[in-house]
Amino acid sequence: MQSQEELEFHRAYDRVTEAYIALDTSWRYTHVNTVAARMLGRNAKELIGRHVWTEFPTPEDDPFRQAYETAMAEQRAMTVEAFHPPRGRWFENRIYPSPDGLTVSFLDVTDRRRAEILAAGQNNILAEIATQAPLADSLRAIARLHEALDPGALCSILLVDDDRTHVLHGAGPSLPDTFNEAIHGQEIGDARGSCGTAIFRRERVVVAEIATHPYWAGYRDVALAHGLQACWSTPVLGSREQVLGSFAVYYREKREPRPDELESIEKMLSITAIAIESDQMLQHSRERDYFFDMSMELYCIYDIRTQRIIQANPTFTAVTGYSAEELGSCHFLDFVHPEDLGRARGAAEVLNAAGMRVEKVVYRFRCKDGSYRWLSWESIVGPGLLGFAVAHDVTEHRIAEAALAHADTHDGVTDLPNRQMFELALESLLEGGEPVWVLLVGLDRFHAVNESLGHLIGDEVLKIVADRLAAIVGARSAIARFAGDQFAIAIEVQREPSAEALARRVREAIAHPVEGEGYRTALTASVGIARSPDHGEVPSDLLRRAEAAMDRVKRQGRDDTCLFTRQHMKDVEHRLSIGHRLRGAAGRGEMELFYQPQLHAGSRELIGFEALIRWNDPERGRVSPLSFIPVAEALGLMPELGRWIVGEACRQAKAWRDEGFDAFAISINVSMQELQSGGLVAQVADALDRNGLPPSALCIELTESSLMENVERVRGTLSELKALGTHIALDDFGTGYSSLAYLKHFPIDKLKIDQSFVKGLPGDVNDAAIARTIVAMAHQLEMLVSAEGVENDAQATFLTEIGCDELQGYHFGRPCRAGHARAWLSGTSAGG
Ligand code: C2E
Ligand code: CA
Ligand code: CA
Repeated sequence: MQSQEELEFHRAYDRVTEAYIALDTSWRYTHVNTVAARMLGRNAKELIGRHVWTEFPTPEDDPFRQAYETAMAEQRAMTVEAFHPPRGRWFENRIYPSPDGLTVSFLDVTDRRRAEILAAGQNNILAEIATQAPLADSLRAIARLHEALDPGALCSILLVDDDRTHVLHGAGPSLPDTFNEAIHGQEIGDARGSCGTAIFRRERVVVAEIATHPYWAGYRDVALAHGLQACWSTPVLGSREQVLGSFAVYYREKREPRPDELESIEKMLSITAIAIESDQMLQHSRERDYFFDMSMELYCIYDIRTQRIIQANPTFTAVTGYSAEELGSCHFLDFVHPEDLGRARGAAEVLNAAGMRVEKVVYRFRCKDGSYRWLSWESIVGPGLLGFAVAHDVTEHRIAEAALAHADTHDGVTDLPNRQMFELALESLLEGGEPVWVLLVGLDRFHAVNESLGHLIGDEVLKIVADRLAAIVGARSAIARFAGDQFAIAIEVQREPSAEALARRVREAIAHPVEGEGYRTALTASVGIARSPDHGEVPSDLLRRAEAAMDRVKRQGRDDTCLFTRQHMKDVEHRLSIGHRLRGAAGRGEMELFYQPQLHAGSRELIGFEALIRWNDPERGRVSPLSFIPVAEALGLMPELGRWIVGEACRQAKAWRDEGFDAFAISINVSMQELQSGGLVAQVADALDRNGLPPSALCIELTESSLMENVERVRGTLSELKALGTHIALDDFGTGYSSLAYLKHFPIDKLKIDQSFVKGLPGDVNDAAIARTIVAMAHQLEMLVSAEGVENDAQATFLTEIGCDELQGYHFGRPCRAGHARAWLSGTSAGG
């Protein structure tokens, strides 16, 4: 029974509190106000007299119950704030004991409570995100926060895989690990669980009962096995509305969400998105940093105001040798090569405001070891007056460029300037107005060095010769290497009054033996000299004339010096005009073969003829082969002329055979060019075939020097001729450098001792010794020996005595027309 006073009190209390009840000492309701009744969901009157813990069964350890009991037992007022699981809300209870029992006012503080937890929790999480905590940690904290807000909820955060087709585990701290593992990697799609569907549809999916919901058909068992009954999943959207993942809550009972629960889920979404997106950004910038660290380019960030480097990547420090601190320790320009300061400063002046940029600014950067690297910079000023610069190390490129420029103007073997450079240097010498000597130095028979010692040693020898020549000429002069074995020197007459003296020094330098590992060689040189302004005033004229003089030396036996004269000029012109008329001369019937008899030394019987060409030039009459063959060779006319010679010689042989003479052979001379040109064998075979001649009726004469060039090719051609059945003779033997041992490599049948050795016979002991040696050694190599230029009986007798097999010379017969030669044939046949 309540007193009027009490009733008044309760009514007053009713007005000031939200909800309020009174209990007697035996825990029975004595008063329930309307707000409380509504909150408890009961009729106030019905509750009166009922036992509170029977009416609302509450575990012993319930915080509210414990507070009630304490307040009752100890008679002290208590305030307790706790979560009330049956209502899923927070309440604050103020408990006032009295001798009659307890008066309790209670307030739903869920909203305030959630706001507090949320604020504190989110602040912590944001702080973690800001300190770049691992994403898993942030997500776990978010899940836990939500679980604190809505006790009973089991939170799961899933992430969308990069390929956007699968979900990845994000956080699920209260869910069993096995369940989290089972979800990890599941497919995204319609009706694929709550999360797969929510992500796919970009909308919340509430599954109140997993056991029966069709979306869970494929995953039901694993959920139920872990006691999970309900799952509501909400997609997490990023700043660009992209789906980042899902935020789901599971419950261990079937249930629909209340609006306030959806509201608190809603509150977790943005922080989840922030956590995921910050991590992605972090990931990106880490990747960028990785780039920055790994790049082979040099990167740095510098302060525009102080002009100091404040950050540099590892490549920068590796290339320059400075640590990042050292790079930042001084003004940027302090690292720049003094000569490049202008360029670097110019760039720095441009880079004075945000957005300004420079490209391809190249300058030398001083490294710690004092060396310089060529760096090509690109730089842009970002916000905050920071400069972002990337440099490409172009040092190797620069070196290569310089080398290329050098290679363009210099000879790779001797490192002397090339012809182009020489002409430039000569030009500037000529501009001085003083007379200038131009020397063209040709090494004699240099190809023999290459052939016998190999090109590597050949190059070595050239280099040594070049060094010697460079030492002879000094400043105000120019030296260069021209084609293969030629050097050019230009020097002011003032500095070197006697070109002959200079040429002598040059030739002495060259004649000095060159010794290397396993070889020793001595060279000679042919030197041609021209002089400005007498022989020309421009480099090309002077060079051409020096060359004409040098050619003259070569033609006259080499190893000498010749000063260009006007007469040489005429010779050159003469040769030019010969060349002009030589073209097509055979076709016009201007060529003729003369025949010189060749005799058996012992019996002095005719064994054959050497065919020697003559040119009946309509303008000049008969021209010696000595003057037109070199021109024909120089003009590349020899193969054409050679074809005519082979054809004509064979035609003549056939004609004589047709007359019944067959005990003779015809020797034809073949030039180096014909031997190299490749068509010779076919030409010979064709001519023999056309005239029905046996190949043994033909002997091919070639000179020693022909054997020196393109050895393999020549050897091949000779073997083919040999296989064909023609004989091969080596002409002018003894004038070249080939040793007899060298000849072993070629299929040669006969050596023809050069006329120069025959001339002094039998009196000249040297010539006699040479002739003897040649005969003896040739015989050892099973070759025949012939002597040409036999002009008297003494020579013939001597040669016969030393065993020479064949003889040829004016003593027996001069080269003559075919008609005259026929007399020899009939003479023989008459005699035989
Ligand atoms: P070679 O092959 O050594 O010819 C021998 C040269 O010596 C010929 O001069 C010949 O007339 C000359 N001779 C012969 N016997 C004597 C002698 O007893 N005393 C002297 N002083 N000379 C003698 P030729 O006919 O003026 O030919 C000169 C060179 O021209 C030849 O030298 C040869 O290298 C070349 N030649 C001539 N005809 C041809 C040809 O048809 N084809 C090619 N490729 N070269 C040829
Ligand atoms: Ca000959
Ligand atoms: Ca000869």
